[in-house]
Amino acid sequence: MSPNTEPKVCCVCNRPFQWRRKWAKCWNEVKYCSERCRRSRPAKPTESKLEKTEPR
Ligand SMILES: [Zn+2]
Repeated sequence: MSPNTEPKVCCVCNRPFQWRRKWAKCWNEVKYCSERCRRSRPAKPTESKLEKTEPR
């Protein structure tokens, strides 16, 4: 029973991915299924801010 190891959905490819041992220390911050997706995401904080409509 590990609540921190629930599968997540990648922000880039929208595919679910499982917890991996390498993410044991930073699973809460993991948003991408792989390093590849992580790099493929455009680093534009201004635009991403407009895209996000999540209420805080
Ligand atoms: Zn991905």
